[in-house]
Amino acid sequence: MGPAALPENCNHSVDTLVIGAGHAGLAASYFLARRSIDHVVLERGEVANSWRHERWDSLRLFTPNWQAQLPGYGYTGDDPDGFMAVKEVIGFIDDYAKHCSAPVQTATTVTSVSPAEAGYQVETDRGNWRCRSLIIASGACNLPVIPAFAASLPSDILQLSSREYRNPAQLRQGAVIVVGASATGVQLAEEIFRAGHPVTLATGEHVRLPRIYRGRDIQWWMHATGVLDEGLDDVDDINRARRLPSPQLVGSSKRDIMDLNVLTGLGIRLVGRWMAVNNGMAQFSGSLANVCALADLKMNRLLNAIDEWVSETGRDGEFGPSHRFSATRVDATPCLGLDLAKENIQNVIWATGYRPDYAWLNVPVLDRKGWIKHQGGIAEAPGMYVLGMPFLRCRKSSFIHGIEDDARFVSNHLDNYLKKRRR
Ligand SMILES: Cc1cc2nc3c(=O)[nH]c(=O)nc-3n(C[C@H](O)[C@H](O)[C@H](O)COP(=O)(O)OP(=O)(O)OC[C@H]3O[C@@H](n4cnc5c(N)ncnc54)[C@H](O)[C@@H]3O)c2cc1C
Repeated sequence: MGPAALPENCNHSVDTLVIGAGHAGLAASYFLARRSIDHVVLERGEVANSWRHERWDSLRLFTPNWQAQLPGYGYTGDDPDGFMAVKEVIGFIDDYAKHCSAPVQTATTVTSVSPAEAGYQVETDRGNWRCRSLIIASGACNLPVIPAFAASLPSDILQLSSREYRNPAQLRQGAVIVVGASATGVQLAEEIFRAGHPVTLATGEHVRLPRIYRGRDIQWWMHATGVLDEGLDDVDDINRARRLPSPQLVGSSKRDIMDLNVLTGLGIRLVGRWMAVNNGMAQFSGSLANVCALADLKMNRLLNAIDEWVSETGRDGEFGPSHRFSATRVDATPCLGLDLAKENIQNVIWATGYRPDYAWLNVPVLDRKGWIKHQGGIAEAPGMYVLGMPFLRCRKSSFIHGIEDDARFVSNHLDNYLKKRRR
């Protein structure tokens, strides 16, 4: 697949470079090829590298198989309502790269991107490139976001980010604090608890969703009602929309609900957001009841919108009855401080989110948090684009099925940019 291996330290020139061969970079390549734009995809590892090396063993997508859709390609298996395991995701993306004959140059790490005359100078560990335009699809989840106080935890506690965690066999005997109650945190808390560890789950703002509502998967509802298609003009605060944690969903054949009530029912202890460590004491926010009430409220708001859509479209007969889920149960006096030694806390898992890594980007396009400043994928530098960011152009942007519209838009804009430059 793709161009022949390059000799070291050569200089190449191409109209467009794409950085990253995850689904976003490959989708970009699909549209660039259709527009006959000369391009190469540079990938530091292999196709679908993040799924190969940065996910835990038991992970399954929480989006159903019917949503595994990429431009010109989609899931064709016999289990559209199932959820892919990591190996299947790798196979799916690998097959897509082959299907598109994407010109991927694997094992090529981009080490520097700098402005150059009429484009960019791109240096890699396998030769240098000049390009007139650039699509950065190097992922939004390259580095874990871990609070600074992690450095003051006792050195004998094992700390793993969710990017490093693979399975419970990595853990020390004893209790575990899982930090973060998004999709990752709730899944890891359950797995680790079932492996025999006492688990405390530190819970900040989170998104609660039922797996099934009125007989249909919640992703089906969000697709049908248009929630996933909400665009930049449909939200009041785009920065907030881009920071929204992933929903408490798990992809399992039993279509299990995964929420805090399930976890506390198992025996997992809930505490508020982890704020600090002082003299061997972990200190948690007192806002647990509030963040849980807010998550319940927002879930019910979504369910109300679904019910309204059903009534307005006259489809009541097609679905099960409207109903509501129990409010999240929270202790009247949740634990605010925990003695790490007395509680035998031997492990901390940081499931506190991710950020991109642009250490190689020598173009002044980053905001103060290190994200590329862009307008719907058009970066604030000529001929530079970004794909695969949360809510790039719409709510579904960071999902596999969300890339098509974004990649089409970005490639279209890039094509016009190159044409204007040629005139
Ligand atoms: C834990 C987790 C669960 C998820 N679950 C779902 C889900 O259920 N459904 C869903 O639709 N989405 C899910 N997502 C979101 C999304 O689909 C993934 O994050 C996906 O990997 C993003 O694709 P991407 O192509 O934007 O980035 P990536 O897959 O991260 O691809 C970026 C590529 O760029 C390469 N790269 C990075 N830096 C360089 C460099 N300097 N030089 C060369 N190459 C470089 C990387 O090696 C990588 O291959 C999940 C994400 C995570 C983290």
